[in-house]
Amino acid sequence: MARHGRKDDWGFPRWRSYGAGGTAAATVRGCDRAGCAEVGDRPAPKAPNRPERWYFCEKHAAEYNANWDYFAGLTPEEAAARAASEAADTSYSQASHWQWGGPGDGTRSRAEMDALAVLGCAPDADMTVIKAAWRQAAKASHPDVAGTGDEAAKRFRAVQAAWEVLSAADAVRTAGGV
Ligand SMILES: [Zn+2]
Repeated sequence: MARHGRKDDWGFPRWRSYGAGGTAAATVRGCDRAGCAEVGDRPAPKAPNRPERWYFCEKHAAEYNANWDYFAGLTPEEAAARAASEAADTSYSQASHWQWGGPGDGTRSRAEMDALAVLGCAPDADMTVIKAAWRQAAKASHPDVAGTGDEAAKRFRAVQAAWEVLSAADAVRTAGGV
């Protein structure tokens, strides 16, 4: 399963072991970022559409949010499928915890927001703008232009994945009248 294959991508924080060597129960949850001794009172989803959370201190919650690469380890097809299923499940995409710490006007999922950022588009960009940005980014990052280095290839894949996510979500919205 892709979910298991991606497990390590979410794994920079490690669960701290509580009460190691002692019997006192931890009454306050610590920040889940390894080595951090702060109180962890900021929940963050471990993965999209999953109920499991990390609990971080304010600083590490912000860090986690900023560094969260939604597309890490995903093929464009997987990214598009995931975004489409999220767009179809509007009750979930509008759940309050999904909005936590994220930008957006509540009508676009986190995947779409990340895809917009990849293409350099504003959160409220329409499909005409998005399509133009995608074409430009795809051209600029194409192997013929940008070469075949790892960074260029990664950028090209991210641009394609972003487009797949946004066009799939738009198709779902258009079909479902969301
Ligand atoms: Zn922390």
